[in-house]
Amino acid sequence: MSFELPKLPYDFNALEPHIDARTMEIHHGKHHQAYVTNLNNAIAGTDAEHLSIEEICRTISKYPVAVRNNGGGHYNHDLFWKIMKAGGGGVPSGPLADAINSTFGNFDDFKTKFATAGATRFGSGWSWLLVTADKKLSVTSTPNQDNPLMDIAEVKGTPIMGLDVWEHAYYLHYQNRRPDYIAAWWNVVNWEEISARFQQAMK
Ligand code: MN
Repeated sequence: MSFELPKLPYDFNALEPHIDARTMEIHHGKHHQAYVTNLNNAIAGTDAEHLSIEEICRTISKYPVAVRNNGGGHYNHDLFWKIMKAGGGGVPSGPLADAINSTFGNFDDFKTKFATAGATRFGSGWSWLLVTADKKLSVTSTPNQDNPLMDIAEVKGTPIMGLDVWEHAYYLHYQNRRPDYIAAWWNVVNWEEISARFQQAMK
């Protein structure tokens, strides 16, 4: 079995003006494709060929760094495409909204915490909202293509929302203005998908 680049669930221009079509085209077709290709090369002929990407991430410390970087790259981008949509944004509702309010105080305080995690991540990486093993929400950031599923992560759990803060995610449109990209990104967040992932992780 080898991993495949998932189809984008919308057109390249669907997230404009917040994320431009050219960035989406390169990000999906070049960057994500390279993670998939390099992951397949790195696991060729090994037992990892028979595992899911989640299983690989959970035991990532056993693997060479090429599997960590490209396996994380594949998992993270697959999640990233799905938790965005055209006409997204707004606020979450239901059990996820209740959990955000009880964990972080209110939605705005959560947004600040999540945005700060991304804005202050030095170099390349991700900010995350995750459900920990004891079923609590937590915000963290990871370097490079690491994620909270990985056994080497500082804060571990099931990611339900991730924001790519690599320069390749925003540089064409925002240049060095990462905080502007993060501020605009809230307008494309797919809260229905994140809520569904929350409820699945809480089971
Ligand atoms: Mn990326």
